[in-house]
Amino acid sequence: MILVYADHDRGELDPLALQVVSAARGLDADVHALIVGPNAEKCVDDLTSAGVRTVHHGTNAAIDDYTPRASASAVITVMDRLEPRAVLAAGTPRGSEVLAHVASIKDLPLVTECSEIALTGSGTAGVTRARWGGNLLERSEVSADVLLATVQAHAFAVSEDAGDAQVEAFEVPVTDADLEVSIVERTGAAETGVGLAEAKVVISGGRGMDGPEAFGMLEELADILGGAVGCSRVVTAAGWRPHAEQVGQTGTKVAPDLYIAFGISGATQHIAGCKSAKTLIAVNTDGQAPIMTHADYAVVDNLHTLLPVLIEKARAAQGA
Ligand SMILES: Cc1cc2nc3c(=O)[nH]c(=O)nc-3n(C[C@H](O)[C@H](O)[C@H](O)COP(=O)(O)OP(=O)(O)OC[C@H]3O[C@@H](n4cnc5c(N)ncnc54)[C@H](O)[C@@H]3O)c2cc1C
Repeated sequence: MILVYADHDRGELDPLALQVVSAARGLDADVHALIVGPNAEKCVDDLTSAGVRTVHHGTNAAIDDYTPRASASAVITVMDRLEPRAVLAAGTPRGSEVLAHVASIKDLPLVTECSEIALTGSGTAGVTRARWGGNLLERSEVSADVLLATVQAHAFAVSEDAGDAQVEAFEVPVTDADLEVSIVERTGAAETGVGLAEAKVVISGGRGMDGPEAFGMLEELADILGGAVGCSRVVTAAGWRPHAEQVGQTGTKVAPDLYIAFGISGATQHIAGCKSAKTLIAVNTDGQAPIMTHADYAVVDNLHTLLPVLIEKARAAQGA
């Protein structure tokens, strides 16, 4: 049996959880999922459609939002009862945080950001992980009674599977220490809009945008195309855009149908975050910029003159 820790935000399932279920189904047909906290029952249908047959729902009156150590306690409760062969979570900050607590408490190794996982024998597993910004694929063997692993975003396609799931509710044992880290306030990021990690279209800007003002055009284009805005690290370091929008090795890894990079040179650390895009269009005044060799369509032009034209054309096409 494989256990998937399925994260959610106030009842909205993390879409990457479904990819983790696919990874789990590649290891064993018997996949259980764990959801924690209030409103989590809203996630059951999505998990069922991805092939989960048993959903464990852990609650406690003291858990009213994401609480990492309490979630770890829930994982350990299910682990101790059902003895899964592996526990998987999405390679997000939350998934990594929860499994890191589990690893520490259970004194087990944790492998992060796996793009391939195979159970090779009793207590051994083979894993593949991208290292050095995707320039190196590391294959290693892990020895552990229970494999704890996080799954790299977009490494596994979501597979559909009709059927029913049974929900097993249980009380999560929590101590005061489990509640020390919890969400006290949410500020900043907009509550609406398309999430960067799951967006089908990402419109990204780099240093060539020359400042925060021109990002208004990217927002406009993203809005017309139903996409999300991304950026390079230079942009977040300059404070033009929030870190949540950074694409790359130390930002979000995206896999949209369309990625358009405006004024981004294409450093390996940036490409590590967008190389899974189905189509990459680069707009750059420098035809020799590294990103041009990665692009399906390389446009040598000034973004400041091209963007207003693109917006107008996209708007017209939408109205057509
Ligand atoms: C450990 C580490 C981790 C990192 N992680 C990340 C990461 O996650 N994500 C990331 O993005 N970077 C990351 N970086 C930084 C990365 O190495 C680059 O410095 C960064 O990606 C460059 O950003 P840029 O392409 O916006 O800027 P530049 O490299 O300065 O490129 C700007 C580009 O804009 C073009 N341009 C200028 N004006 C115009 C115009 N008017 N029209 C069109 N094009 C124009 C230029 O020709 C140039 O190609 C990391 C670096 C390190 C060391």
